[in-house]
Amino acid sequence: MQSVTVLGSTGSVGVSTLDVLARHPERYSVYALTANRSLDVLFNQVETFSPRYAVLADASLVAEFASRLELAGLNTTVLSGEEGLCTVAREADVTMAAIVGAAGLLPTMAAVEAGKKVLLANKEALVMAGPLFMDAVVRHGATLLPIDSEHNAIFQCLPMQSQSDSQVIPFSKGVQRILLTGSGGPFRTTPLADLVNVTPDQACAHPNWSMGRKISVDSATMMNKGLELIEACWLFHTDASNIDIIVHPQSVIHSMVEYIDGSILAQLGNPDMRTPIAHALAWPERIVSGVGSLDIIAQGRLDFEAPDELRFPCLRLARDAAVRGGTAPAVLNAANEIAVEAFLDGRLDFASIALVIEQVMAQVEIVEPQSLVDVQHADNESRVCAIEIIAKKTLA
Ligand code: NAD
Ligand code: MG
Repeated sequence: MQSVTVLGSTGSVGVSTLDVLARHPERYSVYALTANRSLDVLFNQVETFSPRYAVLADASLVAEFASRLELAGLNTTVLSGEEGLCTVAREADVTMAAIVGAAGLLPTMAAVEAGKKVLLANKEALVMAGPLFMDAVVRHGATLLPIDSEHNAIFQCLPMQSQSDSQVIPFSKGVQRILLTGSGGPFRTTPLADLVNVTPDQACAHPNWSMGRKISVDSATMMNKGLELIEACWLFHTDASNIDIIVHPQSVIHSMVEYIDGSILAQLGNPDMRTPIAHALAWPERIVSGVGSLDIIAQGRLDFEAPDELRFPCLRLARDAAVRGGTAPAVLNAANEIAVEAFLDGRLDFASIALVIEQVMAQVEIVEPQSLVDVQHADNESRVCAIEIIAKKTLA
């Protein structure tokens, strides 16, 4: 029996994680559930799973939530803030890191530094702090398993030695290329001139996946694929030149690995996050996830095309940040978070998201981070710069 903390349990990945856990009460117990401020969803989850702890990142809501639990006769202890998140991340056997954005960095690192099994959905944490993060995994003997469907697919296609020992470099065991697939999002064929007018709801209507709003916008700009490129460099010990991004509109192949003998291995399945979640939870065993069989005959065909960098300038920006290294990915990520938030709030048009990030990348100094403090400093500077650019609307 393993205890599991689900950071970000009220979000899209969090809810899918609880769905899988509920299918295996004999294997997993829920240790802690956490939310930013979704009280009602968290309350229902606490009622269903009776965790030892519930954590609200927004400390102002704790008293109200604790009295609701008491009234209902539930004896889950309520913690709050970043410290509460870090505490529950450290204490369980397994931590699912499913907070969105930079807010997930410290709690995810807390689980890594406690040497636990960490299921990584929060790609932003690894993008921001790649070298420090991977170094901490080794130093503290943590087990890091990718939840992002593409990285989980790549992991499943890796040479056996690299799966069982994360220090064995796949490119030294016959791998010669990683093919990172992405659907191209809802605007793959929208006329370029129309992109300036798209609404948040249109951007969040992903053709294949149902996800939180931030990652949905990232998928529409393909910044998501850019962040995933950086994520893959760290997870699989390679640089961006060995990773091709392939647009695959059906999202049936979740990524591929090419070997020196000409073999290409792919992982296929219905686009449902419960598959990578179940894979990582049980690895190296397999458990039922609730996902139905892929009907490959009904699917009929699989299409592939090269990504259009004119349509998706965020791909170029992310590749540049990957090559530049240092705090460049952290700056990219923070500028993107601010620009996406402004777009979702109706303060920035869709086509300007990339322009904001490009200007921030040109203005903020890039350094080699020595510690998380340096990463957070770069993140903060980038946010301030992006907010200023958006407020002044000085976009080209
Ligand atoms: P979501 O917006 O649906 O959920 C986010 C969760 O984080 C919620 O529980 C929310 O309460 C919590 N949260 C938000 N801000 C917080 C803060 N400041 N402090 C603490 N908690 C906070 O997001 P999601 O779609 O589930 O994505 C979560 C992460 O997983 C992201 O990093 C995303 O890139 C990654 N991911 C998601 C999917 C997917 O299918 N949704 C796929 C691959 C990777
Ligand atoms: Mg993904």
